[in-house]
Amino acid sequence: MPPIDPFDDTSDDLPFYEATQLRFHSVAELIGLDDSHREILSAPKNELIVNFPVLLDDGRYRRFTGYRIQHNNILGPFKGGVRFHPSVSLDEVKALAALMTFKCALVDIPFGGAKGGITFSPADHSRGELERIVRRFTHALGANIGPEHDMPAPDVGSDAQAMVWMMDTYANSSHSPDRTAARRVVTGKTIEVGGSLGREKATGQGVAFALEHHLAETGRIVRDMTVSLQGYGNVGSHTARILAADGAVIRAVADHTGAVFAGDGLDPHKLAAWVHEHGGVAGFSGAEPLSAADFWRVDVDICIPAALERQITSTNAPDIAASIVVEAANGPVTPTAERILLERGVEVLPDLLMNAGGVIVSYFEWVQNKASEKWPVTEVDRRLRTLMWAAADRLLETRDRLGCTRRDAAYAVALDRLRTVYEQRGIFP
Ligand code: GLU
Repeated sequence: MPPIDPFDDTSDDLPFYEATQLRFHSVAELIGLDDSHREILSAPKNELIVNFPVLLDDGRYRRFTGYRIQHNNILGPFKGGVRFHPSVSLDEVKALAALMTFKCALVDIPFGGAKGGITFSPADHSRGELERIVRRFTHALGANIGPEHDMPAPDVGSDAQAMVWMMDTYANSSHSPDRTAARRVVTGKTIEVGGSLGREKATGQGVAFALEHHLAETGRIVRDMTVSLQGYGNVGSHTARILAADGAVIRAVADHTGAVFAGDGLDPHKLAAWVHEHGGVAGFSGAEPLSAADFWRVDVDICIPAALERQITSTNAPDIAASIVVEAANGPVTPTAERILLERGVEVLPDLLMNAGGVIVSYFEWVQNKASEKWPVTEVDRRLRTLMWAAADRLLETRDRLGCTRRDAAYAVALDRLRTVYEQRGIFP
């Protein structure tokens, strides 16, 4: 295969799946990945699409479409979230599943990569309908998930309650002696039914630890840094609260309902309560409204996209005032936008590292369930920081050795680990 340059002009704001594939092939080329390993890793192992009927409150049935893509399991069981959002498609979930394989490999946890989702908007459904959708989806997945095989977790639009419904549905369909083990078929559960302390804030906590590492490279700290965030769900709101506790000033926040600005900093706890009550940041009384276009121009040190993929594009990348872009979401910066940012001297800290805190603490939850242990949150955070810093060290060492971008270095560490295991195990038969 000829070398592919993802920064080629023809790649302007490519679709997410194509952009992820191009990145994979370009780093495979960079590190000289063998053709057979490239062949295996360039497509998911299994692609499952399920259509299932759900009883609505008005007595009608609606058909839903769900996905589970199992990308790779050479390093351990398939692992990754389930997304509930109207944008969920086969290609989106395939791209996200591949990112999970590379993320787990980069941070060195013994998991492979998977992703799932259902194409719908949770906000349009009652709690009862939501429960039936989640349970019917889990039932449709059947034995394709399992506590040693493929373990879902929360992602955009899903939460700890949804994980508990998944776990309960799976456990009740299992042979009774296996029901305790069945608990760890999902992670990100509520604490009461076996979730880990520190899991809910884990992605935001991981962002904070990785950012701390990045700033320490140049002797900086987060105190007094100004921050904007796009997305105020689990990842955005926890990131904001943790960074504010470390002394950062949260100047602007945007989501699907609008954007808000407070020059002296807004209260991230009050904003979280507002979003909980009103469904979005629009109208928040502790800040001024802002247009979507102006949001990207806000004068801040750090801009943190924490929502969906392809949010920073060739259209808004030239406007971004921040000098550091932190990818707390998966795939928020397109390849063209990344080139524009790098040319402007903006540092882009890649998703594979920055948002790995969620799956790392999912791994801790799975280990605790397996050993019937409960770790204090201080222990969870200590271990999370150790893994995040070790991965950040490896990424930097690889970037310096290969003379590449941080994102390419993240992929290179991951692909190198996968290659080593394929070389030692061989390809069956
Ligand atoms: N959905 C999260 C992610 O994209 C967490 C996945 C997990 O915990 O398995 O990394």
